[in-house]
Amino acid sequence: MSSIFLPPPVQKINNQITFNSGIELYILRLDLMHPEINGNKWFKLKYNFLEAQEKKYSNILTFGGAYSNHIFATAAAGNNFGFRTIGVIRGEENLPLNSTLSFAVKKGMELVYCDRTTYRKKHTQELQIEFKKRFGKIFIIPEGGCNLNGMRGCTEIMQHLGCFDIDTICLACGTGTTLAGIALSLHSNQKIIGFPVLKGSDFLEAEITNLTQDYIQSGLPVPVNNPAHWQLIYDYHFGGYGKVNQELINFCRTFQQEHHIPLDYVYTGKMVYGVMDLLKKGYFSPGKILLIHTGGLQGNIGIEEKLLKKR
Ligand SMILES: *Cc1c(COP(=O)(O)O)cnc(C)c1O
Repeated sequence: MSSIFLPPPVQKINNQITFNSGIELYILRLDLMHPEINGNKWFKLKYNFLEAQEKKYSNILTFGGAYSNHIFATAAAGNNFGFRTIGVIRGEENLPLNSTLSFAVKKGMELVYCDRTTYRKKHTQELQIEFKKRFGKIFIIPEGGCNLNGMRGCTEIMQHLGCFDIDTICLACGTGTTLAGIALSLHSNQKIIGFPVLKGSDFLEAEITNLTQDYIQSGLPVPVNNPAHWQLIYDYHFGGYGKVNQELINFCRTFQQEHHIPLDYVYTGKMVYGVMDLLKKGYFSPGKILLIHTGGLQGNIGIEEKLLKKR
């Protein structure tokens, strides 16, 4: 399954801010691994798809919002690897479909809409039994690929770096699954910093701790004996999930012009903004920092459509 993916390049970022701070800054471009199944989402899907294949499921059902990168990637991966996919979408149907959902449909995904109250019960037995009655034998992947299989895939992200020495890794966090997986593959002299993009992510620390404990107890492979410390910085969510302001938009546009690296507004853009701000403030001690570009560029179309409508 992995053969269709390109190795993600590492690029150095040089500008006045990195120059003044004495930091060497790099970015790992997971967004360039595949045009459609890109970013961290493939790592979270990989072992879910492998388990589905091994257990001879042909239908995969998963959940997400109307602009979800996970829905987009699952539809594309299902199409590539020969699974029928069903996407349970939060909220009601809006026609014409936005670019994320029309892509999913083009890739053969069947969409089912779920009101927000029902959607909240998505991981209950009750609802899953109903889906099974309706669609037959289905392999269910939780929203965002947030399970132990998802975490397992993320323990492999750093393999793409080779023996490159890095002191600190920074990435954007939604559920924290990617951070938890990467942390298990780093050494104790390294550090990983997550930038939550949701407002009020206080629950996240406990969730990452639980996920990590469950993972270790499950006996799945852990790449290192003494994993790295991780930490969350809560100051750069810009008002919450999917919320943007002009400053963030301008930052992402300027960054793209200067470095030829596109950033998504929902995740990576907020993290890179945060890192640049912290660099300016002298937060990091000298060393090598690696940013992880987790992809998600498809979502920019939706955000820009919404901004145009507001005008
Ligand atoms: C889903 C997603 C994340 C968040 O990953 P988690 O494992 O849920 O923390 C980060 N960046 C992008 C682009 C994503 O699509």
